Amino acid sequence: MTLARTWSVGLAGVTGAMVEVEVDMSAGLPGVVLVGLPDAVVRQSVDRVRAAVVNTGAAWPMRRITIGLSPASMPKQGSGFDLALAAAVLAAAGTLPAEAADGLVLLGELGLDGSVRPVRGVLPAVLAAARAGHATVAVPAGNADEAALVAGVDVLAVATLGDLVDHLSGRTRLAPHVRGPLPPPAPAPDLADVVGQAAGRRAVEVAAAGGHHLYLTGPPGAGKTMLAERLPGLLPVLDEEAALEVTAIHSVAGTLPPGAPLVGRPPFEAPHHSATMAALVGGGSGAIRPGALCRAHRGVLFLDEAPEFPRATLDTLRQPLERGAVTISRAAGSATFPCRAQLVLAANPCPCASAAGDVACTCSPLERRRYRSRLSGPLLDRIDLRVELPPVTRAAWLAADVTPEPTATVAARVAAAREAAAARLRGTGLSLNSQVPGRLLRERWPLPRTALALAERALDRGLLSVRGLDRVLRVAWTLADLAGRRVPGGDDVAEALGMRLQRAAA
Ligand SMILES: [Zn+2]
Repeated sequence: MTLARTWSVGLAGVTGAMVEVEVDMSAGLPGVVLVGLPDAVVRQSVDRVRAAVVNTGAAWPMRRITIGLSPASMPKQGSGFDLALAAAVLAAAGTLPAEAADGLVLLGELGLDGSVRPVRGVLPAVLAAARAGHATVAVPAGNADEAALVAGVDVLAVATLGDLVDHLSGRTRLAPHVRGPLPPPAPAPDLADVVGQAAGRRAVEVAAAGGHHLYLTGPPGAGKTMLAERLPGLLPVLDEEAALEVTAIHSVAGTLPPGAPLVGRPPFEAPHHSATMAALVGGGSGAIRPGALCRAHRGVLFLDEAPEFPRATLDTLRQPLERGAVTISRAAGSATFPCRAQLVLAANPCPCASAAGDVACTCSPLERRRYRSRLSGPLLDRIDLRVELPPVTRAAWLAADVTPEPTATVAARVAAAREAAAARLRGTGLSLNSQVPGRLLRERWPLPRTALALAERALDRGLLSVRGLDRVLRVAWTLADLAGRRVPGGDDVAEALGMRLQRAAA
């Protein structure tokens, strides 16, 4: 047998596509030719595979070896093809029975010593293999738990190339990997820790219930970061499909925590304002990696000190947030990642960031205005909730509730409100109040004039634009859903009006 083939999976973003690895051996000058759009890392694969084969104790065939990766038009990236290449070469050389490797899907990088190293993107790759009808995948032992999340596929956990050779030649068969129980999710920060911030606590509850983007301003120490960190805990736990989707992104990003193969809770990502565009949105050389925005998919993207982010960077976020997906193009190809994240921006009231609020501030009114205007209109336009947090004074802290409501209590209210909204929106393809276009909201669910009186007065006096009114209506519906009211009343509209920065012209 001089021709052998195995399978592997190539990834574009979080979408896997089957790659057929064919090896042909012929007489002629010994050497290796690799065809089929390999990137630099895949080209180096030949040297790794050769060293691994020899160090495993097998002979490297001294023939002319042609390795083809198909479909030829698809760019192949990364080191995950090593194992498939090695198995195909050994099968073509007759070291392994060719029929044993045929149909098997192999993922993994080879060390020179023959060890099989974990790679990124195993979950989406195994999902693709399962969809293509493959029954067995061989993966690095370090990725086996992740691979075993996919139902209906036998996972072979391979620690060394020698293990695979023994298995395929029938000497020592590997049993399909059985995944250990999922570890309990790491404890998340609880709202019970936030004392005396009634406005802030209310803001995150409303944001969670309606899926509204949130903009928090307030002096340092007002609890902006504490509140933002507690928002994911108020969101519903991810269902199985969502968890796999989020896990696939983190798998490609290489950010799956060790020992916890499944992301079951809404993620929280907080990139620093010095983060590059690639770190924030995605990119990088070689294989395209998802950035913080994509890793926050179905969770929360928190931008602390938002005015410090370069304006161009913030503007880049707007369109992906609206579309729920981002496409990143590089010379080597392009990749699309989902990014339906909830945005939380936080800002100090001014650049001097005086902890005492306005009292000790040394900034001129012009400096303050400039600082605020660094957040661009188009991005702020997408943010329904804009809440100004007062400084936490000792008196307010002492006067506050001694036992603030814990996350579990608030999350239950949020879940009920989300159910109410989803029931009302059934048939529209939407499920959250934040997703409802203003026009649909005004025409389909008009509010009684009495409830709107306050908002109309604000409109008349030029304090509110029509777009601003849409934002107020969306939030008013969420407030009604939280209170178990069928329709928002005047109080809901008044509270929604209050949940906007007075100084941010709408
Ligand atoms: Zn200042």
